[in-house]
Amino acid sequence: MIDELDFAKAGGLVPAIVQHWLTGEVLMLGYMDAAALEATRTSGLVTFHSRSKGRLWTKGESSGNVLRLRSLHADCDADALLVRAEPVGPTCHRGTSSCFDGARPVLGFLAELDALVAQRAAERPSGSYTTQLLDAGIRRIAQKVGEEGVETALAAVVQGDAELLGEAADLVFHLTVALRARGLGLADVAAVLADRHGQRSGA
Ligand code: AMP
Ligand code: ZN
Ligand code: ZN
Ligand code: ZN
Repeated sequence: MIDELDFAKAGGLVPAIVQHWLTGEVLMLGYMDAAALEATRTSGLVTFHSRSKGRLWTKGESSGNVLRLRSLHADCDADALLVRAEPVGPTCHRGTSSCFDGARPVLGFLAELDALVAQRAAERPSGSYTTQLLDAGIRRIAQKVGEEGVETALAAVVQGDAELLGEAADLVFHLTVALRARGLGLADVAAVLADRHGQRSGA
């Protein structure tokens, strides 16, 4: 529980790992004192105690590259924080998404794609192929899933890796749109797979 965080045990400053709320990418590490945690919770913008500045520091206060708070988690013995956040712009002052180079989760982009398709479904921006598909309706989208499924199957048997990967990418994209047209997403598919794994049901 966040309210049980032991600032005294941590010497007043608790390390706070900031993680992208969707992809799981580790964005940066900062330190929070009780005031920084309070400011983070009340403003919804991730705020640290900056040791170099010697004051409260809202990430992005001058650059505009803020971190919107999504959730807070204390660790097992209440002396460290995991902050899930939605970054607005690059988090690192060098202009990269993360302060830790090469920290991108392997499948992180699938989560971004799922979120992007959901955003397209909600906003329907013109000029977007995803909007065009969603506007055409579930039958058209289902037809595309079928076509790409067949192309993927063919590529798996008679084509090279590049062609197979291209068709698999087409399939995953159209499948993501089909799920979204039904109000579902890749996370729902992952939950079913995880459930099955737990049951050790086999295929
Ligand atoms: P910002 O909070 O983005 O407006 O940046 C203000 C100042 O904080 C920058 O000039 C850097 O010195 C420092 N800074 C910004 N982002 C980071 C970061 N991810 N890690 C450490 N220091 C940072
Ligand atoms: Zn701990
Ligand atoms: Zn950095
Ligand atoms: Zn294709």
